[in-house]
Amino acid sequence: MIDFQYTRASDVADAIRQISADPAAKFIAGGTNLIDLMKEDVERPARLIDISRLPLRSVEATPDGGLRIGALVANSDLAYHPLIAQRYPLLGSAILAGASAQLRNMASTGGNLLQRTRCCYFYDVATPCNKRQPGSGCSAIAGLNRMHAILGASEACIATHPSDMCVALAALDATVHVAGSAGTRAMAFADFHRLPENTPQRDTNLQPDEIITAVELPARGFAANYSYLKIRDRLSYAFALVSVAAGLELEGDTIKQARLALGGVAHKPWRDPTVEAALRGQTADRATFARAADVMLRDAKAFEHNAFKVDLARRAIVRTLTQAAAGTPQSQSNKKIA
Ligand SMILES: Cc1cc2nc3c(=O)[nH]c(=O)nc-3n(C[C@H](O)[C@H](O)[C@H](O)COP(=O)(O)OP(=O)(O)OC[C@H]3O[C@@H](n4cnc5c(N)ncnc54)[C@H](O)[C@@H]3O)c2cc1C
Ligand code: SF4
Repeated sequence: MIDFQYTRASDVADAIRQISADPAAKFIAGGTNLIDLMKEDVERPARLIDISRLPLRSVEATPDGGLRIGALVANSDLAYHPLIAQRYPLLGSAILAGASAQLRNMASTGGNLLQRTRCCYFYDVATPCNKRQPGSGCSAIAGLNRMHAILGASEACIATHPSDMCVALAALDATVHVAGSAGTRAMAFADFHRLPENTPQRDTNLQPDEIITAVELPARGFAANYSYLKIRDRLSYAFALVSVAAGLELEGDTIKQARLALGGVAHKPWRDPTVEAALRGQTADRATFARAADVMLRDAKAFEHNAFKVDLARRAIVRTLTQAAAGTPQSQSNKKIA
């Protein structure tokens, strides 16, 4: 039995006050990841600060044509929101590829960004894991590493980030808004999650006294030509082996703008602006997409059990870009089935 205290935050300022006063405390939103980690003895917060009643549940159009999503908007509410369906179907598609309907009803936008890796050794407290216990070693490098990273890994950790939603947010160039005792700030999505390097215990650049208040999307939503493809062991209730989020803007057959992000392959959603730049001005065909996949995966490094991921990722990139170009997203749609 883990002994912990429970308090509620009355507003964002109170949440910051409470977390600043107690470094052993944790925020709880939907609880779908944190409670599991507590049950497995991976997380042992001395206090849970419940933020689930804070007024961070709105989805609002911004004056510059973008969208501001409150940190407590449930994943299901977001996926089915009319503005998401209309302007950012890539995001809705990615969210609906994750978890289950019940989980998506509970899971929050902020919590989704901060969910922790699904590396089995991270969950098994009987095994060494640098992310759980810095300096103890990484059991996955010479162990069962079928689900693990092929890009951006380090000698300290080869875990992957498990989110689907974050892959679409990376491709859409989102911004994360946070508030802390030093005030508010905005972080580009690419700067929010970290690569493991020699500090795998830190998943993100969020400071311990900061709360995520919102995620903002810019106006460009790639609503006409997008696709999210998730390859996994089972059709539902499974994390991605490889996932791809793609958005294109086309003029005839020519690519005017391109976005590409990968999930399931690295410690953070993997996006490479040089690949996107190289796609601009090219003909939207298989040869172009295959070249883009090769560049995207040029630094891929496999481990004993996950070499298949490199070829899988290459094929998934080509297929996703092909579907996006054809305007046939194929993956789960965020249109409700009548
Ligand atoms: C069986 C199962 C299958 C799943 N499958 C998938 C899947 O296929 N794809 C996928 O993407 N996800 C999947 N998930 C993960 C799920 O999406 C996350 O658990 C969920 O998004 C977390 O949100 P939450 O609000 O419940 O977070 P919580 O569990 O409440 O919190 C998670 C972490 O975020 C912190 N936190 C929460 N909100 C804030 C905030 N606003 N500011 C600062 N810190 C905050 C908490 O302190 C905690 O550390 C699955 C989960 C389960 C249990
Ligand atoms: S891959 Fe990372 S999370 Fe998994 S055992 Fe190694 S250090 Fe821990």
